[in-house]
Amino acid sequence: MDPILEMLDDVLADVAPLTDGAIADYIPELASADPDQLAFAVVGPRGRVISTGDDRAEFTIQSISKPFVLALALRERGRETVLRTVGVEPSGEPFNAISLEDVTGRPANPLVNAGAIATTSLIEGDTEERTGAIVDILSAFAGRSLWIDESVYRSESETGHRNRALGHLLRSYDIIDGVVDDIVEAYFRQCSVLVTVRDLAVMAGTLAFGGVNPVTGHRVVSERIARDVVSIMASCGMYDSSGEWLLRVGLPAKSGVSGGLVAVAPSQFGVGAFSPRLDDHGNSVRAAAVVERLSEDFGMHLLEIHETISEPAISVERVDGGVTVRLGGELGFAGAERVLSVLKDAVRADVHVTVDARDVARLHPAAASLLRARLDVDPGSLTFLE
Ligand code: GLU
Repeated sequence: MDPILEMLDDVLADVAPLTDGAIADYIPELASADPDQLAFAVVGPRGRVISTGDDRAEFTIQSISKPFVLALALRERGRETVLRTVGVEPSGEPFNAISLEDVTGRPANPLVNAGAIATTSLIEGDTEERTGAIVDILSAFAGRSLWIDESVYRSESETGHRNRALGHLLRSYDIIDGVVDDIVEAYFRQCSVLVTVRDLAVMAGTLAFGGVNPVTGHRVVSERIARDVVSIMASCGMYDSSGEWLLRVGLPAKSGVSGGLVAVAPSQFGVGAFSPRLDDHGNSVRAAAVVERLSEDFGMHLLEIHETISEPAISVERVDGGVTVRLGGELGFAGAERVLSVLKDAVRADVHVTVDARDVARLHPAAASLLRARLDVDPGSLTFLE
């Protein structure tokens, strides 16, 4: 049996007995979900998706759509326009709180409902065009065509008076313009897109790998946009328990009311998890437990010391009239600093130095410029191969 799948099955077995929490019941479609469902999936940099449990179960994406629609708004409208419309501060309040910044009326962040509705308003077009663009980007993140569950959408729309009220409040502050109903309907539709844990893992993976879908290999958003979205997930993704989540789990995440959860381990993997029973904050009890376990077992806490500070591979070879320095592995700031200190002894000002970084798996721009600027060689005597 696959050793990784074996590890995942162990986590599943450990988490399965948890029966705390209650299923969301504000619409009949969510209330009738089987509360015992449990599944999760991970995807690594080479695009292998591994899943366990009820991994074929489909459920609506709900609030997990918010960071991905934020990515679309950032792509279409740019960071400054988005920041004028919505803040990036954790609200410390429940997801549907009616709380807007005092004078400006700006919602606290794009991951509470008010901020998500404002973000959706930034996507151009009428309800249909907006919905089309949103379903397209969610599909690009997932690597397959996703669909809307029409009956969930109808129920969301029939019961969504509070979200409609938030929309009108935002309109009264001129935070959103256009027809409020069109915007709110597009928001209800984005919440009603059907996914599985495998889809969620690939969506999270696309953020983890800098905007490139690890399965399809397609770039969905720029590295900067992926970083912006993941930053906001880190501070605001888990409703009013985001601070405790960062402490205990340390992975940027976003949960939804149907019991789904995505978590991002930058450069390492994406996770999607699902189980319908929710805690008092609206986060799935067992999906959160799964991600907490994975973070612990795989040493993935964001603020933990990671391998980028390990010794870089350096070989120094003296050749006629100069020195060739071959670098390997992954080179970030700390690695570049180490390379410099090794080279200080090997390189004299009067020799030609060739730095061969072609085998470096990932050369961080900060490392490349540090090496160029600080190698004690006059520029004419330096050849930098990358
Ligand atoms: N459709 C839900 C709402 O906007 C989504 C909430 C959630 O997943 O937290 O009320």
